[in-house]
Amino acid sequence: MTEASSRLASRVKLKDAHLVTRMTDIAEGLPDVIKLGRGDPDLDTPAHIIKAGQEALANGATHYMHPLGMPALRRAIADNIAAYGGARYEPENIVVTPGGQHAMFVIALALLNPGDEILVPCPGYNPYHQAAEMAGAETVHIRTSMETNFCVTAEMVRAHITPRSKILVLINPNNPTGTVTPPAEVARIAEVAKEHDLIVISDEIYARLTYGNHTVQPVAALPGMFERTITLSGMSKAYAMTGWRIGYFAGPPDLIPALAEINHAFAISTTSVSQHAALAALTGPQDCVEDMRAIYDERRRVLCAGLTELGIPYAEPQGAFYVYADVSKTGIGATLFCERLLREGQVLMYPGGIYGDYTDDFVRMSLTQPVARIREAMTRMKAVVETIRAETRAA
Ligand code: PLP
Repeated sequence: MTEASSRLASRVKLKDAHLVTRMTDIAEGLPDVIKLGRGDPDLDTPAHIIKAGQEALANGATHYMHPLGMPALRRAIADNIAAYGGARYEPENIVVTPGGQHAMFVIALALLNPGDEILVPCPGYNPYHQAAEMAGAETVHIRTSMETNFCVTAEMVRAHITPRSKILVLINPNNPTGTVTPPAEVARIAEVAKEHDLIVISDEIYARLTYGNHTVQPVAALPGMFERTITLSGMSKAYAMTGWRIGYFAGPPDLIPALAEINHAFAISTTSVSQHAALAALTGPQDCVEDMRAIYDERRRVLCAGLTELGIPYAEPQGAFYVYADVSKTGIGATLFCERLLREGQVLMYPGGIYGDYTDDFVRMSLTQPVARIREAMTRMKAVVETIRAETRAA
């Protein structure tokens, strides 16, 4: 242990951050890298949203805002949640945050005591683990596999419950797997949550991005779930607004004041210009979301066809903008595979270990490049896979 790291609090775990930074550092030193790493859309924020932000700035939106968020924005969020089959929230039960990720830490710090357990799908979006650990709680990983297309089932949840279980996280569609938990399964999981008095964090940030006939059941709208569910979402994914840093959570009236207090302590309020832009996003024309969804859908098909041709199995991507593929049959683990693909083929993707995957078999590919670049990535990947397979055969 270095002197510097010995000064860090035991809550700070560096493993996940190290991997992303390491891959990014390698990519920085290489020419013409095709980046399928970060979950950051290459598509620009739609023009009318940018315009609303510019106008807001010109009109003086340069100050702190209401601690819970601009009232008109909270009203628009409430209407938007209800319009897509969610619960009917009052604006005072919604807190606007500088990104959905920030909300995870607010919620964990407000609700988890040391020793509490939080059940998180595995693989799943890793900041939930970090938020729980910072609150002194323990993460219980609900391990999923290709057998259920990485879907969490009610039985799996039940099998992980202990007297210390407090929160269940559902990420639907899931990152990194692209899994959409079927509505009937969500309803069954909700019954388990009620039986065991769990609070559910329902992360629905990718809910508008689903493919085929897959749809997301908002958890808070299910019978008896409103009072125990915190809905977490944001504008980053559906409206390509990652850089604006704006998201929100909505919950039952008895939890919101404490959560709002912690959010205020962290952020005072969310960036004013981003709130105005988010208002334009939610109240303006929605065809931009459908247009982007259709673009991801096409990329998804192209990438999956490429993987099939390469004989690389993958989970069916039903939502979000990721493809989760099993590279273990090449003969090397996913972490090494990613590094070799980056160095030898200049294609960046992330090993599943970043998302808590317990296997080192899977890689996550983001659909954040145009179709032509995805085809090129597949061509480069083919060459690297063939080299690795030849080495494996020779060994
Ligand atoms: N939830 C999930 C499942 C995500 O994948 C992400 C970002 O990748 C977030 C929440 C947080 O997004 P943001 O902080 O940009 O709102």
